[in-house]
Amino acid sequence: MTDVVQETIDSVTIAFDIPDEIVEDFKYAPGQFVTVKIPSEQTGHVARCYSLSSSPYVDDFRLEIGVKRTRDGYASNWLCDNVTVGMEMTVLAPSGQFTAKNLDVDMAFFAGGSGITPVLSLVKSALIAGGGEVVLFYANRDIESVMYGGQLEQIAAEFPERFSMVNWLESERGIPTAQAVTEILSDHKGTEVFMCGPAPFMDLVERAAVECGVNHANVHREVFQSLSGDPFDTATLRRLSDDEGIATATVYLNGDCITVEWPRNTPLLDVLLSQGHNAPYSCREGACSACVCRLVDGDVDMVQNNILVEEDVQDGERLACQALPLTDAVTVSFDAL
Ligand SMILES: Cc1cc2nc3c(=O)[nH]c(=O)nc-3n(C[C@H](O)[C@H](O)[C@H](O)COP(=O)(O)OP(=O)(O)OC[C@H]3O[C@@H](n4cnc5c(N)ncnc54)[C@H](O)[C@@H]3O)c2cc1C
Repeated sequence: MTDVVQETIDSVTIAFDIPDEIVEDFKYAPGQFVTVKIPSEQTGHVARCYSLSSSPYVDDFRLEIGVKRTRDGYASNWLCDNVTVGMEMTVLAPSGQFTAKNLDVDMAFFAGGSGITPVLSLVKSALIAGGGEVVLFYANRDIESVMYGGQLEQIAAEFPERFSMVNWLESERGIPTAQAVTEILSDHKGTEVFMCGPAPFMDLVERAAVECGVNHANVHREVFQSLSGDPFDTATLRRLSDDEGIATATVYLNGDCITVEWPRNTPLLDVLLSQGHNAPYSCREGACSACVCRLVDGDVDMVQNNILVEEDVQDGERLACQALPLTDAVTVSFDAL
């Protein structure tokens, strides 16, 4: 840890210094998250995901996360209370699909509370590396709970032509209204829409986006939830069905084409990891979409899917951590989704 800053009364920013030999593995796209191993006397450790608030276009090799205390939560409070400069922590490489394919387009962001973390990374990146207009709707309980207020004011002063921001405080205006969201979206229909915050807030934004005619493919949602599985345990091959047969998987991964035997009871991700292939993953429980790949040929079943919506599945997206083969031969690609 290179720096720990008290962001608000109930949140901290933690900056990581990445050892030289793994810097390449920690390159990230704005909007991605890391998975942090947090010690626990009860269970050994727990794993939690935290979005990177830093931008690869602005903050060089400094990776920052913003952690907000969850009431009665374990990991967030542990991080807020215990992390100090100089401490070493185990962190999985960045992953996640809450990213922009093109930073050069107009973008509308909707953030609620700590949902600002991936949004801040995207906003900074779009303004520095892109050329479109950026609008941010940022909802908070009250002025004391606003994370990154100073940084956002600085950004607004630096990019007055391309950046506008609505600061919505519940203490003054109640919970965000559909009308407030629609006002922004009706002016920005052709834009990419990114949202991160409490579920009812994101439902409101998504409904408004649909009503304003924003294309579904342009609406991106990041869900904050705690992992229950242990992504740090890669040694265990999970059995997700009783089928003892073997299929064949052809996998496009990191520019290579790999063919592996695929035991029909084992998720594709486990097969790849157990053979030393560097497939992306985080939660390993169908919740985070870090392991998403695209079906090219054949078919797979997903044992659990708590993140991909119907349109994603129709587009061929599948979660490798939950994928079991339905056909004898399956081809998937992790590259260029
Ligand atoms: C993609 C993604 C990005 C995210 N980004 C952010 C972010 O930028 N900022 C942010 O603040 N949050 C973020 N989150 C949410 C974050 O991962 C956590 O869900 C959040 O911090 C709450 O975790 P918690 O452990 O404090 O709370 P909880 O998960 O509610 O804690 C309670 C859980 O901990 C267990 N527990 C209690 N005591 C112990 C103990 N002693 N040992 C072991 N287990 C115990 C309980 O059994 C219970 O399951 C993100 C989540 C995701 C999926």
